[in-house]
Amino acid sequence: MKKKETEKLLRELTDVCAPTGFEGPVRAIVNQHLYPLCQDIYVDGIGSLIAQFNTRHDSKPNVMVAAHMDEVGLMVKYITEDGYLKFQTIGGWLDQALINQRWIIRTKKGLVKGITGIKTPHVIPAETRGQIFKKEQMFIDVGASNKEDAVNRLGISPGDPIAPDSLFTNLNGGSLYLGKAWDDRIGLAVMIQVASNLRGADISNNLYLVSTVQEEVGLRGAQTSSYLVEPDIGINLESGVAGDYPGSTLDESQEKLGEGPAIFLHDSSMIPNLKLRDFVLKVADEEKIPIQFDVLSGYGQDGAEIQRARGGSPSINIAIPTRYLHSHNGVISIEDFDSAVKLVTSLIQRLDADTVREIRKFELE
Ligand SMILES: [Zn+2]
Repeated sequence: MKKKETEKLLRELTDVCAPTGFEGPVRAIVNQHLYPLCQDIYVDGIGSLIAQFNTRHDSKPNVMVAAHMDEVGLMVKYITEDGYLKFQTIGGWLDQALINQRWIIRTKKGLVKGITGIKTPHVIPAETRGQIFKKEQMFIDVGASNKEDAVNRLGISPGDPIAPDSLFTNLNGGSLYLGKAWDDRIGLAVMIQVASNLRGADISNNLYLVSTVQEEVGLRGAQTSSYLVEPDIGINLESGVAGDYPGSTLDESQEKLGEGPAIFLHDSSMIPNLKLRDFVLKVADEEKIPIQFDVLSGYGQDGAEIQRARGGSPSINIAIPTRYLHSHNGVISIEDFDSAVKLVTSLIQRLDADTVREIRKFELE
């Protein structure tokens, strides 16, 4: 994929406001890209988009590739009498990441801008200036003169979704890109590019490209969609956790930007199937694709639900290293994106019935 086209796709996917439970605009974008490339495309009962890439044959194994559409955000809880918004966080946020930021609220009248204000240091006593601001004390200022103005003029209602206001941009000319919601729009971008690479190809598995909803609140969309897909193999695409900046330690995370996609060996939701792990490493080695590992003690991902769907299936999580996840400004490397696309394309081309049978076999002696 040419760099300009990749940039266009990444911009399209990351700029859109679509927190957990409000994935509609992302679903529309993914559908637009995948519909012309796939045999069939449908939505499950809670909103995950299931794209069946090729004509299904019972003799072929089902390979499910997944990435999630939602992003961490906020939701309007209520509007104060003087027109400020109190909010509920959706997904995991550090309180410090919320304060003094710009936000987009999706209302019935369109997109509204707001900010989480912060008190000026002039009024904060010196001894409390080092304290952390708690999210319960925060509010969003939309410039409304009162509650009626917020409701009637701006169209704000309780339940409206709120996302970071932070636009995609290249980070000073190199291969790094800045934006919100890399988690997990970068996974969706890999999926779309893999589908485009495989256009018209005769592949030896039934390939399902699944864009899930509500990952950030407990892998909900992966649960329902994998029930429908009945995967024999699961490949989850995620944003990883880069630990290559000051203050970050190897014990926290082992990924570095620009050193290739990360294979998760452990996170709090899943341990990958060992034969599938070794198959991925073999393919990466043969194709000369750089790979790194990550062992995290926190972190959950959709692969865990794919792994446990129905009778269970070998699954793995492949991640694009990302700095500063779950904030307004994440950073990824386009080189890692390209390597991940190459890796996943190669994996799909090789996952035929014999290979999948061998991966799924547990030795009994
Ligand atoms: Zn994620």
